[in-house]
Amino acid sequence: MNTLRPHYYDRFKCTADKCRHSCCKGWEIDIDEDSMSLYEQYPDIKCHIKDSSFVLQGNDERCPFLNESGLCKLILKYGEDILCDICTDHPRFRNYIGDIEYLGLGMCCEAACDLILNDTVPFSLVPSGEVLFGIDKVDAYEGKVSDLVRQLYAENSTCADRVSFYLTLECLDPVWDEMLKSLLDVEVSTQARDAFIDSNSLAFRNLLKYFLYRHMGHAGFAAESVRLIAEVALSSGHDLADICRIYSAEIEYSDENADLVKERMSV
Ligand code: SF4
Repeated sequence: MNTLRPHYYDRFKCTADKCRHSCCKGWEIDIDEDSMSLYEQYPDIKCHIKDSSFVLQGNDERCPFLNESGLCKLILKYGEDILCDICTDHPRFRNYIGDIEYLGLGMCCEAACDLILNDTVPFSLVPSGEVLFGIDKVDAYEGKVSDLVRQLYAENSTCADRVSFYLTLECLDPVWDEMLKSLLDVEVSTQARDAFIDSNSLAFRNLLKYFLYRHMGHAGFAAESVRLIAEVALSSGHDLADICRIYSAEIEYSDENADLVKERMSV
């Protein structure tokens, strides 16, 4: 199988103890079969597993192997090879078209989000491969990003419609619920949202490319996700990168939520 990855992929490095929103908290960690067999030989690991998942601890649902300094006790004691697939892979994702595997970095990780939002060069794949899904058009577009969003997917719902819909989806983190509800209190006009997108054009251009790549050209998903993220940024006052990270965790990492968003937005 031929494997391609975005040009920034190899620059990703987990920030471990420097990470402010560790993926070792609040996520269920399902252990693959090979790792389960391996862990059978380690009583100190096995005792923290139930139903093929690590038993999370405390109110913040920490992985039992996350130490107080934010480092992984398993890596410290046994080295990286002891990790199960999900811990080795995160935040990477894979899509397949024919016999080509497209690797990527998911934006729910703050280090990946930082790389994606601040990328300053046109999108390319390595080793060299055809850039699909209209991503090259995003790089070539010379007008306002807000106009490009409209061209990708015509706006057929209001900000109020969007937030009502998103509030019906399963919510994992109460912070996301608060962010969405801020849109019920603060009316964000289309003009204000577009001005915000255009004043943060690098980040929003990168967001469009990320969503198109991750969701294999689903222009409706890309455009409406960008609109909602900009509106939440204006209403909630949260940092744009934080909103992108939480949006990714809430929507992209829930197949059910992502499918419902895509269903709502025909391509
Ligand atoms: S969220 Fe990203 S940077 Fe943070 S601990 Fe997980 S992989 Fe590392």
